[in-house]
Amino acid sequence: MDIERDVLDVDILIVGAGPAGLACAYHLIKKAEASGVEAPGILVIEKGSYPGAHSLSGAVMDPGGIAALIPDYLERGMPYEAKVGRDSLWFLTGKSHFRIPFTPPGMGNHGNYIISLNKFTGWLAEQTEALGVEIYPETAASDLIVENGRVVGVQTVDMGLDKNGEPKSNFEPGTIIKANVTILAEGTHGSLTGQADKKLNIFDSSISQSYLTGVKEVWEIPEGRLSEGEIIHTFGAPLPLNEYGGGFAYKMSGSMLSVGFAAGLNSPDPTGDPHRRFQEFKMHPSIKNILEGGTMLHYGAKTIPEGGCYAMPRLYDSGLLIIGDSGGFLNSLRLKGIHLAIQSGMMAAETILGAIEKKDYSAETLSVMQGKFEQSTAKRELHKVRNYHQGFEGGLVSGMIHFGFQFLTGGRGLFDRRETKPDHVYMMKLGEFFSNGKEPAPPMKFDNKLTFDKLTDVYKSGTKHEEDQPPHLVIEDYDICNNRCTEEYGNPCRYFCPAQVYEMVDNEDGSGKHLQLTPSNCIHCKTCEVADPYQNINWTVPEGGGGPNYENC
Ligand code: SF4
Repeated sequence: MDIERDVLDVDILIVGAGPAGLACAYHLIKKAEASGVEAPGILVIEKGSYPGAHSLSGAVMDPGGIAALIPDYLERGMPYEAKVGRDSLWFLTGKSHFRIPFTPPGMGNHGNYIISLNKFTGWLAEQTEALGVEIYPETAASDLIVENGRVVGVQTVDMGLDKNGEPKSNFEPGTIIKANVTILAEGTHGSLTGQADKKLNIFDSSISQSYLTGVKEVWEIPEGRLSEGEIIHTFGAPLPLNEYGGGFAYKMSGSMLSVGFAAGLNSPDPTGDPHRRFQEFKMHPSIKNILEGGTMLHYGAKTIPEGGCYAMPRLYDSGLLIIGDSGGFLNSLRLKGIHLAIQSGMMAAETILGAIEKKDYSAETLSVMQGKFEQSTAKRELHKVRNYHQGFEGGLVSGMIHFGFQFLTGGRGLFDRRETKPDHVYMMKLGEFFSNGKEPAPPMKFDNKLTFDKLTDVYKSGTKHEEDQPPHLVIEDYDICNNRCTEEYGNPCRYFCPAQVYEMVDNEDGSGKHLQLTPSNCIHCKTCEVADPYQNINWTVPEGGGGPNYENC
């Protein structure tokens, strides 16, 4: 259909009102003021219903990023749940745990804060708006516009189309937003970042990104279980030794607890299910003792880009910068990215200011971003853990040995620039994985006190989508799902999606089953795009405002 679209011109467009995007906007205004440069018009667009609605993290934050951005962040009321107090690392056995008597190098949390990322993001949005930056929530960008090799802006999603793509009475065509620089701060496995790769090859020199899926709940627990600010990280059970991941419990203020589990998406198990792993984690006696008698309040899940600095894209192109999770700014050893996201936003802001002064937004001018990163504390931090995640490819034991060598050699380890494959390649076919008498686990029973099924959890994420809109999960070839995948992998999407979007239902003629989707459950975690063994699922952006509405997460 030929559609006439409004065109909005701005100086600077930031896609994503998370910590990275907001830090970029804030720092750009402040830097422009300090340099006597006229402040550019900045527009931040956010697909969630408010800034922070889609922001989810553990989250223990290293305050280094926010201290650099807003030195008086405490006086300005930055929300935090507790300062980190007692800090423990547990190895979980089948029924008990050992406390590791020392903190492994680089993993200490002294001086860090337990925060709710969505509250923190809301606060940072207020600070940024106070400087005159416009933030448009409920505004989702579907297309990165590239003209003659230069990024010129984005197109937002058409609103008011029905399930079949036909306009309804409230139809509003998406807007074209043009900008001198477009900054992608859209979070993990961003869809525009994927388009930038297809059109501009920004991941050309990178190894494959590796992901975990983190699944989390916020609980109210009885008094006396943990002290305020106490944090526990775990490894070992319920994961087998050849799979990567671990759990956490962070005691917030009052009676609130953040508890979660992150599982590597390079699991060989075609029935691998991060949500189930999390339920098993909560059933472990050492964790159950903390939660029992409490109430689950909130739920969320997201993928975590773990690949390290060798998996990062080129951070610039003509008219384009990439920051935050979209750029892979995450320390895989510390499992922390908020401080790095903020630092990346600040580097982007300083790069843009130089471009404004030169009135030149070419790739050459914006390549200053790459130079700033190479010279930054963020790069020094990431360089030390550049091979960390890849070292665990052979399982926990060999991972610990590699980690030891990496520690002794400043991150180099036995092999530097360890290559890796895309996560989905590691999934084994049913017949290979379940051989020699190994059987799939029986379906899990949920007690609705300690453990919850996926639909109950989705309800607790506040997820809402307009039901009558084109499905935002696009299956390239249903025949693969209904036949080949059923036979070879047993439809792993039923397991790895933490929101029960994918189900196999009976055909009406009784001839077998077919894949049925419930996209309105989707919590935008992006696991399916990463883990699908055929890469047959395309996550596209739904109408703005759809998705989770995280609170206290
Ligand atoms: Fe995550 Fe995909 Fe499931 Fe949505 S459909 S919740 S993105 S795995």
